[in-house]
Amino acid sequence: MRFTLLLVLVSVLVAALPEAAFSKTRMRSLKHIVLDPGHGGTNPGAPSVTGLFEKYLTLPIALEVERRLREQTDATVTLTRRTDATVGLRERTRLANQAGADLFISIHCNSSENPEANGLEVYFLDPDAAINEFDHLIAHEERGELAQPEVPNKAGAPAEEAPPLTIEQVLLDATMYKSHERSELVAGELLDTIHRVVKVPRRKVRQAPFAVLKEAEMPAVVLEVGYLSHAEEGRRLADPKYQERLADGIVAALIRLDKKLANP
Ligand SMILES: [Zn+2]
Repeated sequence: MRFTLLLVLVSVLVAALPEAAFSKTRMRSLKHIVLDPGHGGTNPGAPSVTGLFEKYLTLPIALEVERRLREQTDATVTLTRRTDATVGLRERTRLANQAGADLFISIHCNSSENPEANGLEVYFLDPDAAINEFDHLIAHEERGELAQPEVPNKAGAPAEEAPPLTIEQVLLDATMYKSHERSELVAGELLDTIHRVVKVPRRKVRQAPFAVLKEAEMPAVVLEVGYLSHAEEGRRLADPKYQERLADGIVAALIRLDKKLANP
């Protein structure tokens, strides 16, 4: 009798399966999303107040975002790394370009000498602002964050990263102009929606021609999910529950964004 009940239950569940699959959000604009967990391998990124390096935080967040996107949407998701591997900045955007991705999101954690600095920040390419931001970029590079040349790989091959950008390289081509409008929309949506879901402060969208964004042929942003240098936020970022909430916010933003892009 109990076995029959179990059989009935199983068949009901199986019957419900296609419907569950069908109820996934159909992505109309962001069909292929590349998630780029910042740093990895020999490039650890910034240390947190807990002593944990950035590379160990960006990966689980990206994996949680991937899991949710697969569960909730029909988007194809590609990660630039799934392990603690060394991946060059150019290699990351090249992967997105070759995949013909619709969006590239590089996930990072921020760090500041000001212990009070906290909250979200999103960077995207803005050719108009590129020259104004050039000084800021140089300062950022010198601080050794995103645009720093990565250390040689295991085989001892020279780092493939180019030397710091020159002003000529900052002047971007027509493809960049087209992607830029969408990158700005992406940046705004990520900031607003994550802020709503996670209740974390957000700072103004900053525009800078980071090396990791420069060669992307699709809308591309660097999302800084919080400050590792902040006593409270630094600790929170290492909490898997908090990482999951950040992933919830990112995925909610991407679903909203897809609707906006599909119905401009
Ligand atoms: Zn970083």
